This record gives sequence, C-alpha cells and structure tokens, in this order.
Amino acid sequence: MRQPLVVANWKMNMTSPEASAYCQSLRGLLPDEATRAEVVVCPPFTAIETVRAGFAGSYLRVGAQNFYPASKGAYTGEVSIAMLKALDCSYVIVGHSERRLHFGETAETIGNKVKVAVEHGITPILCVGETMSERSLGLTEKVIGQQLLTCLKHLRPAELEKVVIAYEPLWAIGTGKSATAEDAAQLAKYIREKLYRLMNGNTDAMRVLYGGSVTPNNIADFARADGVDGALVGGASLDPGKFAAIVRAFEVK
Ligand code: PEP
Repeated sequence: MRQPLVVANWKMNMTSPEASAYCQSLRGLLPDEATRAEVVVCPPFTAIETVRAGFAGSYLRVGAQNFYPASKGAYTGEVSIAMLKALDCSYVIVGHSERRLHFGETAETIGNKVKVAVEHGITPILCVGETMSERSLGLTEKVIGQQLLTCLKHLRPAELEKVVIAYEPLWAIGTGKSATAEDAAQLAKYIREKLYRLMNGNTDAMRVLYGGSVTPNNIADFARADGVDGALVGGASLDPGKFAAIVRAFEVK
C-alpha cells in the first residue's frame, strides 16, 4: 500500500523568521507521529535550513522547489543538488509550470534535473499538466503522455519507481478552480498506464499526487479518489491551519 504524500509548495513566500513561526505552529497542529501521510514542506532556498531545524526530531520533512543540474562551478545564483542534500532535503519539485512559464524550462532541462535528483537520492516530484486550451481540444492525455516520456526518458525502470508524479492542470494552479476528483483519478490511472511498459509493469509503488487549488474544503474528495496518493499544495499551504487540515484528510482514506 502506498503511503500518501502531502507536499507544501511555498513558492516565493516566507522569510526565515516567518518560516520558523510556521514550523512551530504546524507541529502543534499535527500529531507527534505520522498517522498516515508523509508531510514535506518545500520553502524557498533561504528558509530551507530554518524549516529543517524547525522540524528536527519530527517526521515532518523539508524539500526544495528547484535546483540547477550541474555539480558545481560558475553558475552564479544557482543551487546544486548536493547543496540540497547537505540540508537534508529528501524531495525536490521539478518541472513546475511556473518554472516552465517564467524561466523557460524545457522538457530537456526537466528530464536532466529528474535524472540528477534520482542519482543523488533525492526524490523528484515531477509536475505535469495541460493548459485549458489543450483540455478544450481534448488533448489532455496526449500532452501529459508527452511530458512524461520526455521528462523521464533518462531513467531506467528501477529509477522510475523513485519518482513522484504530480498531476497539476495549469488552469487549476492558483486560480481557485480545482479539477474534479474524477479528473484526478482518471489522470492518475492514465499516468500509471502510460508508464507501465517503461517500468516493466511495476507501477504499483509509484505515487501520483494531485495539485491545483487544493483547500481544506475540497481535499476530502481528492483523498478518496482512486489512485490519487496525496496532494501538492500551493496557496493553502501558507496557512499552517489549512495545511494541517489537508494533511489530516488523508488519515481517513
Ligand atoms: C502549486 O503551486 O503547485 C499549486 C498547486 O498551487 P495552488 O495550490 O495555489 O493552486
């Protein structure tokens, strides 16, 4: 049975002191032991150490939102995977639509990042999703299928099992308009089918998350959806009370 995974993507929010207060608050709102879901918070780089320290001694984990896939060198302003590992990051978000849109990340770059993360023992959370116009044209599965194949092409079957896939329809991110739980279940099924051959049939262990305007009000439906193993949460994760409520929804699945 797959352990649910609930991931907070803080995006470019929270100073280090704000992150410290958040961690204290979240720890007070969640049980001391993981009852069901694995919980990961991905702050900006500048607050990773604060969150690591704030979660010390608990089951709560810290992750990152991005990295640059070279080992070291003249890449001003960038952060390597080894730097994240040294800060105990266990997960890293890769291929988020905001990185594709604002920073021109291509499938090639994303595929490279996925490979480098896996090689360094950090689990990549690969985001895939369609735009509203692609959806209207009935291209959702085609688009997601292509994203999966291009971004995962460097991985061997055993490495593929280590990747988490987040289905994040672009029209649902930060819009307040989420997909339905049925959509999420259908896409989770499609993602496993698409990767079945590449993974030699071992898709059972692979976790597929839903992301896009998840809130405490709609999470119960996603938590019940077939094949949906958790959530990637943006806006609602900035409030520890809302994020804790989202985590707790997975206790009853
Ligand atoms: C995200 O940033 O991955 C996301 C899903 O954002 P939101 O929850 O705000 O839609």
